[in-house]
Amino acid sequence: MLVDLDHAATTPPRPEARAALERWLASANASARHLAGQHARAVVEEARERIATLLGASPHDVVLTSGGTEADNLAVKGIVWAARERRRGVPHVVVTAVEHAAVLEPARWLAERGEATLTQVAPMPDGRVDPEAVLAAVREDTVLVSVMAANNEIGSVNDLAPIARALRDTGVALHSDAVQAVATRPLDVGALGLDAAALSAHKFGGPQGVGVAVLRRGLGVEPLAHGGGQDRGVRSGTFAVALVAAAAAALEATVAERSALAARLAALSDRLAEGLTALPGVRREGPEASTARLASHVHLSIEGVDGDALALELDRVGVAASSGSACGSGAGRPSHVREACGLEGTPLRCSLGWTTRDEDIDLALERITTAIARLRPAIARLG
Ligand code: PLP
Repeated sequence: MLVDLDHAATTPPRPEARAALERWLASANASARHLAGQHARAVVEEARERIATLLGASPHDVVLTSGGTEADNLAVKGIVWAARERRRGVPHVVVTAVEHAAVLEPARWLAERGEATLTQVAPMPDGRVDPEAVLAAVREDTVLVSVMAANNEIGSVNDLAPIARALRDTGVALHSDAVQAVATRPLDVGALGLDAAALSAHKFGGPQGVGVAVLRRGLGVEPLAHGGGQDRGVRSGTFAVALVAAAAAALEATVAERSALAARLAALSDRLAEGLTALPGVRREGPEASTARLASHVHLSIEGVDGDALALELDRVGVAASSGSACGSGAGRPSHVREACGLEGTPLRCSLGWTTRDEDIDLALERITTAIARLRPAIARLG
């Protein structure tokens, strides 16, 4: 039996999402004027409303995308491009240095092309950013601040409220990549005062290839792609009716069980971390306080073990975990997140999700312990 400890990369679809996919897969084009098209459109709009309600947003703020990467790109490039249209000078953007590539790369791309100037705020060693440091980077020409709700590698949870409070009514847009947070943490974009947020359905039990960009109405956003003008012209393209319905179903199921799931996963994560950090040379990274880290993530630094060898050995013993970020750098190379936090040793991210059970943790403890023990003499012999 393969032990899946890579839910941060993707988590299995929930039954509610599978049912919605199956039900709406053969939908008509939701922009067609005939009756079948109108029915399909009703499915999309009903899903949009459910998503908006679950996120504390208005349906007009919800733009349906192909996933987290597109939602992040739409916020970063779209907000900068719109700012360039309405004001003089090159807009300034503030991001944290530990953002996912879906935020960092578009921000760097804009900066390389001279379309924006960029400040990357260094994290604290536990992976969080100090809200004061973020606010200190804001200048007169800043148009966008992007701070992730939770880090995908370490699981550190950022305190967005003071940043949102300080930026309210300043004309500086606040975007948050909430892709990893939403499975175990409440997110109310309205109460928090976010202008933009990114979600990805396959991180909370929905299908891959669908996501949500929350973009507050009135926020200037230029589209990435021009076409049929769907989704208030910000995101053209035929609505993915079944994917959107499945995303809404998954989010509804997630929110319904979220606090119970978070408590269950926190206990399982702690048991896994306690068992593995009992081995010499294994540390758990991230914030000390459980309130400041995702219940789903256990990020370890391991001394005396080669990263590539560990990845191969874990495959051999039947544990799917990540030696970095599945959608970032490959195994063995230090990730930009670990570098920015100044972490040493070989990384191992174990991430749990809604299907994780006690037995998974028992097996993982046994197998990861064996893998580390098997690799250490090899290193000693080589050395
Ligand atoms: N943002 C974060 C924090 C992520 O963890 C990921 C995926 O791992 C993404 C964005 C990209 O999302 P998607 O896979 O839907 O493009």
